[in-house]
Amino acid sequence: MKVTFPHLGNAYISIEAFLQGLGHEPITPPLGTKRTLEWGSRHSPEETCLPFKTILGNMLEGLELGADSVYMIGGWGPCRLGYYAEIQRIIIEDLGKHVEFITLEVPQGNYRLAWERLRRVFGPTSARKLIQGCRLSWAKLKVLEDVEALSLHVRPREKGPGSTSRFLHTQFQQLREVQTMSSIQQLKAQTEQGLRDLVDPRLSPEIIRVGLIGEIYTVMEPFVNLGVEERLGNLGVEVVRTISLRQWIEEHVFKNALGLYTQRSLRCSASGYLRGFVGGHGLESIAHSVDSAQRDLAGIIHIFPLSCMPEIIAQGILPQVSADKNIPILSLVVDEHAGETGFQTRLEAFVDLLQRRMRICH
Ligand code: SF4
Repeated sequence: MKVTFPHLGNAYISIEAFLQGLGHEPITPPLGTKRTLEWGSRHSPEETCLPFKTILGNMLEGLELGADSVYMIGGWGPCRLGYYAEIQRIIIEDLGKHVEFITLEVPQGNYRLAWERLRRVFGPTSARKLIQGCRLSWAKLKVLEDVEALSLHVRPREKGPGSTSRFLHTQFQQLREVQTMSSIQQLKAQTEQGLRDLVDPRLSPEIIRVGLIGEIYTVMEPFVNLGVEERLGNLGVEVVRTISLRQWIEEHVFKNALGLYTQRSLRCSASGYLRGFVGGHGLESIAHSVDSAQRDLAGIIHIFPLSCMPEIIAQGILPQVSADKNIPILSLVVDEHAGETGFQTRLEAFVDLLQRRMRICH
């Protein structure tokens, strides 16, 4: 099968390795652009959230490149994600495209249906190739996230403007190509050293650190968050991610399938503000904001798409967290009309506020 899939940051590098292990040909759509969003928005119900529209745009661009199948994740719970794949399938069919649509989700009782899906997913591959593909995919995801975390530390301290992003881009294209575990580890060591070499030792060690919380897709996909991590890094701010795709897969796929996943630590952190699961990452947003306030961070940026119900609930609670924990929190809402200039101005004003607070405290 020629399989296309939606983007989520640089995760496409890991997804490509996974699909190759399954014996499929990955058709990676182009990274998100204005065209992606316009195409997706044109065929989406108006009231759906930005991830739906952007993901649909990715799928249409992947199909344009020759894909005959689409992989999409599903879900259970109060957020709308659970029925997105089905609506996107219907929209694509209405556009006259006949494709195989495979939704990956943790089964909730209907194990026969889940097994039927898995049989289609596993395609024409041997057990050896499958295991190798899964190992490569997981190792690449781990490298991606470790290196990205280091780049968030380096960018506000870099010697030349843009050098971190340029270096990272080159290294990630190499990571896409490597096919053995040893070469992945070699590339990781080389990339981490290269990133450390970009640090300007003359810069002041006092760098503002800001936690990034919110809806997972918006936090992780630079096209929809208008490159918030890079913008903050260029303003001299170190971003601390609170969300990891690897952790999400471990908890929501593996532990959940084995009945081992619990939200106890999240509920514990959020206690006094939110009692339980409200869908999406609403509970995480509250728990992570409380944890961030205890981690010596100067501020928190909360980012989510317009009309995202779980994050609207979180947004209503965050002012209380901010007041109780004495930490500034900026909520940023994005949709297809978000303008870069206004977005940048709000970030600059927030960073300015944090810098003033830091000067007063020292
Ligand atoms: S969490 Fe929010 S943005 Fe994400 S799919 Fe659900 S409603 Fe949409």
